[in-house]
Amino acid sequence: MRIAVLTERAAGEARVAASPETVKKFIALGATVAVEAGAGAGASIPDEAYREAGAEVGIVAATVKGADIVLAVQAPDPALLAGANPGAWVAATFDPFRERGRVDAYAKAGLEALAMELMPRITRAQSMDVLSSQSNLAGYKAVIHAADTYGRAFPMMMTAAGTVQAARVFVMGVGVAGLQAIATAKRLGAQVSATDVRSATKEQIQSLGAKPIFVENVAGIEGEGAGGYATEMSEEYQKAQAELVSGHIAKQDIVITTALIPGRDAPRLISDAQIASMKPGSVIFDLAVAQGGNVEGSVADQVVEKHGVKIIGYANTPTHLAADASALYARNLYNFLSAFWDKETGRPVLDEEIGDAVRLTRGGAVVHGRLQG
Ligand code: NAD
Repeated sequence: MRIAVLTERAAGEARVAASPETVKKFIALGATVAVEAGAGAGASIPDEAYREAGAEVGIVAATVKGADIVLAVQAPDPALLAGANPGAWVAATFDPFRERGRVDAYAKAGLEALAMELMPRITRAQSMDVLSSQSNLAGYKAVIHAADTYGRAFPMMMTAAGTVQAARVFVMGVGVAGLQAIATAKRLGAQVSATDVRSATKEQIQSLGAKPIFVENVAGIEGEGAGGYATEMSEEYQKAQAELVSGHIAKQDIVITTALIPGRDAPRLISDAQIASMKPGSVIFDLAVAQGGNVEGSVADQVVEKHGVKIIGYANTPTHLAADASALYARNLYNFLSAFWDKETGRPVLDEEIGDAVRLTRGGAVVHGRLQG
C-alpha cells in the first residue's frame, strides 16, 4: 500500500494533506508513504521532517508512481496522477457540485475519487470531518482578521483619558465556524449577538454568553435540521429575516457571516441598503464569499469599501492558518483511512454508509447518487 502526498497546486493553497505525525501512523499500519518535495513548505513543515518520519521525499512523478492512495487538500488535476496504480483512491476535497468537469475527468482516468467534504455527519465520522476541522479555524481567523481591520478596540477599556466602548459583534450563521467566531469575539471582549435559521443554535449561542437574535413570527428550521444542515428558506422567512437584520445591523460594528447551504450558492443575508445603515468604520467579514457570498458586493481577497463600511473575506480562510489547518486535515484523513484498515490485506476497505457517501467515481464511472441524472 503506497500512499502519495502531493504539493498543492491551487493558487493560494498553503495547506498539506499529511503531517509527519500522520506519516508515522500510516507507516505503523504497514503503508509506504511518499511526499513530494516542498509539499509542507506552506505549513512550515520541512522535507526533512517528513523524511525523519519515514517518508520518501522526491519529485512529483516519483512520488505518484505506483501509488494506491493519493492524499490532497484540493483534488489535483488527474493528469498529474498518470503514474498511480489503476483504480487508485484520491482522498481530497473535490467541490463536486461546482466542479463537475473535474469529477468526470477522474472517472475517465479510472481513479476512485473520495470527496472528504461529503463525509456524513454521524457520530463515528466526526473525527474524519474536514468541513468541521477547517470551519472551526476559519471562524477564529475571520474574527481576528476583522478585529485587525477595525480601527477601534474590541474590549471595553477604562483609561485615564476616558472609556473605550466594547465593539458589538454580530455573527450570522451559527454552525461550526459561527460558534468559534462567537467564542473568539467573546474572548476578545466584544459584545456578541448571533442568529441562525436552525432553532437548536439558540441554546448554543446562549451557552457561549452571546445574545440570540431570531425571527419569531415565521417558523425556521426545527432543531438541528437535516444532518445539521440548513436548507433554503421560504420567501416569507427571508422577508422576516431581512426586517429583523435591518433593525439590528445598524447598531453593529463587526458582522461575521458564515451561512452556507450544502450544494447551493450561499444565501444572501446582507443587502447594500443594510450596509448603508451601518456606522462608518464598521467591518463585515463574509466567510461565504467563495460560495457566492452572504453579503452584497463582497469580493474574495479584496477589501471593498461601501458607505464607509469595509467588506472583507478570504477565498480560502483555512489556508491563512496553514500549519494548524494542515495538522487537523491530515488527522481527519488518517482517522478516515485507519478506521477502515483491513489488517489481512493491508489496505482500507470502506463500508457502505461512509463509502457511498464520499465516493464520486469508480471503475470509470461517476457513481455518486447526487451527481447522477
Ligand atoms: P454550514 O457551514 O453548512 O452552515 C453554517 C451555518 O449557517 C449553519 O448553522 C446554518 O444553519 C446557517 N445558515 C444557513 N442558511 C442561513 C440563513 N439563511 N440565515 C442564517 N443562517 C443560515 O454548517 P456547519 O457549520 O457545517 O454545521 C452545521 C451543524 O452541523 C453544526 O451546528 C453541528 O451541530 C452539526 N455538525 C455535526 C457533525 C457530526 O455530527 N459529525 C459534524 C459537524 C457539524
